[in-house]
Amino acid sequence: MVMDMQRITGKTALVGLMGWPVAHSLSPAMHNAAFAYLGLDWAYLPLPVMAGQVEAALRGLVALHFVGFNVTLPHKVAVMPYMDELSPAARQIGAVNTVRIEQGKLRGLNTDPQGFLNSLLEAGFQPHGKRVVLLGAGGSARAVVYALAQAQARSLMVLNRTFARAEKLVRDMAVLFPNGGLECRPLNSRELAYAVEHVDLVVNSTSVGMHPEVADCPWPDDLPMPAGALYYDLIYNPLETLFLARARSVGAQTVNGLGMLVHQGALGFQQWTGKQAPLEVMRSACLEAMQEWLAAAESAPGPPDEG
Ligand code: NAP
Repeated sequence: MVMDMQRITGKTALVGLMGWPVAHSLSPAMHNAAFAYLGLDWAYLPLPVMAGQVEAALRGLVALHFVGFNVTLPHKVAVMPYMDELSPAARQIGAVNTVRIEQGKLRGLNTDPQGFLNSLLEAGFQPHGKRVVLLGAGGSARAVVYALAQAQARSLMVLNRTFARAEKLVRDMAVLFPNGGLECRPLNSRELAYAVEHVDLVVNSTSVGMHPEVADCPWPDDLPMPAGALYYDLIYNPLETLFLARARSVGAQTVNGLGMLVHQGALGFQQWTGKQAPLEVMRSACLEAMQEWLAAAESAPGPPDEG
């Protein structure tokens, strides 16, 4: 995707992605393609901000009249104290991935849960009343838990390598499952075998299997994968992880994380511009940017995966 720099003028509305690093992010390609497609005089910029510079960067974005911005690692939690307002999702998850600036005030949102849900629905899966197993208890796991609570999943079992982290997630978010449907276990073969006895959806929110460690899989080698479940991997680089390839080989339906990335981006786009996001344009732009990155991967360190 070649960006037409000529179209940026003094009137161009500015948004961007604040994180470190941001050089390999797919978001600029995704949003700039959407602006170009709709003929909007907007531009989405990478905003590399090092740890310790968050407050200064936020002041700068307000002073420069940015309309809003996305936030990625490592700042999703660090920006929270500077928000004038937080959406219920951002508050409950404890992280912000999208900010709207209105009259100098910062409104912190988290579009990851709805992005996750929209991509599930797009795959034809309705989580209401379903039994879910979630691998991982990091930042993205919290968004998945919030989403599945909103969608009224029947039960959610969280398994994580570091059990204390899973316990903390359950403590923090149990209120979202008033019927006690949110539980946790350590991530190992025995516990997972028990957890997936009656499962409808298995979500991988660990970073295991992400480029460049593509030969790794969060699912134990010695445990068969139930074919009747849908397997969802939040990772989108590679598009098919070993986890999804193994699930596909037993005949199960699989979904990768690209849909979540596109849908969370589309929700931010709509917040900033007030317009319906062109989803397929955004998805194609991501795929094109990923292909360009893959072609240059030998010489370019770091994956295009900002989470
Ligand atoms: P995070 O907060 O750093 O959490 C990482 C998780 O992976 C933790 O549960 C961690 O377990 C687990 N993990 C890491 N290495 C492991 C290993 N060797 N064995 C078992 N578990 C391991 O990261 P995150 O923000 O949740 O992101 C996780 C993944 O989701 C990343 O690949 C990210 O790119 C992707 N993501 C995608 C989207 C999207 O839009 N598609 C959005 C957000 C994130 P411990 O607690 O034991 O360390």
